[in-house]
Amino acid sequence: RQASMQAAAARPAHSRCGARILVVANVRHAGDAREALAAGAEGVGLLRSEFLFDARDSAPDEAEQAAAYAEVAEALGPQRPLVIRTLDVGGDKPLPYLPLPREDNPFLGLRGIRVSLAHPELFRVQLRALLRGAGQGDLHLMLPMVAGVEELREARTLLQREADALGVAAPKLGVMIEVPSAALTADALAAEADFFSIGSNDLTQYTLAMDRGHARLAAQADALHPAVLRLVGMTAEAGSRHGRWVGVCGAIAADPLAVPALLGLGVTELSVPAPAVAATKATVAAQSLEDCRALAAELLRLGTAAEVRARLADWEAAHA
Ligand code: PEP
Ligand code: MG
Repeated sequence: RQASMQAAAARPAHSRCGARILVVANVRHAGDAREALAAGAEGVGLLRSEFLFDARDSAPDEAEQAAAYAEVAEALGPQRPLVIRTLDVGGDKPLPYLPLPREDNPFLGLRGIRVSLAHPELFRVQLRALLRGAGQGDLHLMLPMVAGVEELREARTLLQREADALGVAAPKLGVMIEVPSAALTADALAAEADFFSIGSNDLTQYTLAMDRGHARLAAQADALHPAVLRLVGMTAEAGSRHGRWVGVCGAIAADPLAVPALLGLGVTELSVPAPAVAATKATVAAQSLEDCRALAAELLRLGTAAEVRARLADWEAAHA
């Protein structure tokens, strides 16, 4: 099994019925990207750009950011998709040099795209660095913590302005679906976003109103809760109606138990940590999408995460 998994890891991922499912990686920098490619990743589905901004006294300037993005783009080459998430700070991710107000509920405050839109001077530098550094490859920019279509519009206007100023084409612009309002209005977002990537970690936190880092709630804060699955399904349906691809880049994408459910709900891209790439490809290869769709319809009728997990455990036993 190990040998066949290794062989499969080197090939593009397909389901048993022949559908193309992209298995890509979550990375921080070029070193991670190279490691992910060696593990069989077909590209990068989430580059968490905040790692460039972390643990320092001042923000990286345009040249430094452009060089870092260029290094990742070069590692991937012009053909492989590179999805770079714009700065996602605030909430659980503070920045020492960015004076964000103290908040009673930081997870419900200035986070993700809200920070970028509140600090256009910071956002503008990042957009220019992305266009200059990674604009040549198959670049996709992705906005974190989008709550509704107005944020996407505002970000697109800023992106287009910088692209025009540099005389280059704007890359594809997508949104993370990690706030329930974004999933619930996915049809409106899909009309204007180029793709969706579901951040199941935050989507679970906000749907269940359970802090993602809460030790006492860890067992209940389950991304396989039927409420989260319904939002994943709504997102995938809206994306597909508008011809947009829909991926998952939260931790649930790397759980082999969850993969048949995600595929059945209409997800076609899974972005996972490098060490999970081979197993994810092997799980994908064992699935028929038609069967997964029937499974997903069944799961959506269940009432609890425990029932979903029990059904998926049976499925896994029958399809291993
Ligand atoms: C998520 O929320 O699922 C996600 C991928 O983003 P992060 O874990 O970086 O918040
Ligand atoms: Mg998130």
